[in-house]
Amino acid sequence: MKEKNYWLETTTIPAGESCPLPERVDVAIVGSGVTGLSAARALAKRGAKAAVLEAETIGWGASSRNGGMVLTGMKLPVPTLISRYGRERVQRMYAASLASIDCVEQIVREEQIDCKFSRCGHLEVACKQAHFDAYAASAALIAREFGHQLRIVAKSDLASEIGSEIYYGGMVDEVSAGLNPAGFVAGLAVAARRAGAAIFDRTRVQAVQREGSNGGQRFHIRTSKGGLRAREVLLASGADTSDATPSLRKKIIPIGSYIIVTEVLSEELARELSPKGRMIYDSKHFLYYYRLTPDHRMLFGGRAAFFPESETTVRQSAEILRRGMVHVYPQLRNTKVEFVWGGTLDVAFDVMPHTGRSHGMYYSIGYAGHGVAIGTHLGTKIADVICGGPNDIPFDGIPFPDPPLGLRSGHTWALPLAGAYYKFLDWVS
Ligand SMILES: Cc1cc2nc3c(=O)[nH]c(=O)nc-3n(C[C@H](O)[C@H](O)[C@H](O)COP(=O)(O)OP(=O)(O)OC[C@H]3O[C@@H](n4cnc5c(N)ncnc54)[C@H](O)[C@@H]3O)c2cc1C
Repeated sequence: MKEKNYWLETTTIPAGESCPLPERVDVAIVGSGVTGLSAARALAKRGAKAAVLEAETIGWGASSRNGGMVLTGMKLPVPTLISRYGRERVQRMYAASLASIDCVEQIVREEQIDCKFSRCGHLEVACKQAHFDAYAASAALIAREFGHQLRIVAKSDLASEIGSEIYYGGMVDEVSAGLNPAGFVAGLAVAARRAGAAIFDRTRVQAVQREGSNGGQRFHIRTSKGGLRAREVLLASGADTSDATPSLRKKIIPIGSYIIVTEVLSEELARELSPKGRMIYDSKHFLYYYRLTPDHRMLFGGRAAFFPESETTVRQSAEILRRGMVHVYPQLRNTKVEFVWGGTLDVAFDVMPHTGRSHGMYYSIGYAGHGVAIGTHLGTKIADVICGGPNDIPFDGIPFPDPPLGLRSGHTWALPLAGAYYKFLDWVS
């Protein structure tokens, strides 16, 4: 078994610029994931001089490591969202989640990105009868409030969707999609450059200082490769947001998520496991998510260990996930696991995406394992706002609570307790 990201075996990640940093740019973007690169592409297309600064290689963070699920909806139940933010805003949030799938599809098509994008839909499967019983009300509410149709699948019909007998039923959303995330982020980087943006890899941002309006350049950015000035800064640094921007870092709970990928399955077995090739996740808090890869391997992920990724957590996770996979699919009992890797989710304390400005810098963060589509969409929208467009982003300006100390990035000693709490919730509810 290789402790390696399978997607990177299928993709060539482009290298960054070989030239020195420019002295001045219109917009400096910290981070080269889907958020930063979609913003860079959109800014460059509008004629702004944009530079992406990436501490590691292009797409190094969650954007190249994820499950490749391009999902509609939000993490929290709709009634919770409506009671927090009101109907009108939640309708706009849900519309943004649907628009984000179109946004990814449009970029893939326009830029001819080879990432095997497919509108395969997603399937949520119920781990308990009570979870299944709640699906009908949830689908009716979503149809009424947002005009979006989900389809309930009774246990007796579930074999048409999944080759597993452990679930109590499911709910299908045909609008969601799947892709190869490393292929997508690599293609986004190529597209951003083609439009005129510059991407500097191995360029860690160490500090951002606000200056007086120095010829329109309001920020000085110190990096491991020298300094530059920018009129605007966009923080698109996800779960890896560092001490360079402490006010944003303290908002994020970094939660480890891990993935295993099996050897290539026979076409017959692949079809039995997932007849429609859906993106699948279950109804628990401590959930499993899984799918077939385009070459018919089973990709199976979950929060096997709660701490952010390290060599030990990756190795432990491989075995935990293998057991989870065999519980779902006993057919895979003797199938070899060929890859395991991990990454870190950027989770806000209220489990919501957040955009806005902090100390004058734009940010977009907090996608909580649901960021491929919405991150791409929000990067594009923030680029419009920076270029003077109206700010109609529904996640902008909602309250952004600080997590308690012990869960915050850099101080995560209480994460195992939070993990135990969610496991307890899965047991009782
Ligand atoms: C294992 C795993 C599975 C997931 N599965 C899914 C899924 O199937 N579907 C889905 O929608 N979402 C999924 N997610 C979440 C999704 O991948 C993220 O929400 C999304 O990729 C975040 O994108 P981003 O551009 O905001 O941040 P990232 O992709 O994390 O990029 C941030 C970048 O900023 C860089 N950076 C940080 N600090 C600095 C600095 N000081 N200087 C320079 N650079 C810096 C980092 O190196 C990093 O490359 C998953 C995440 C993980 C970890």
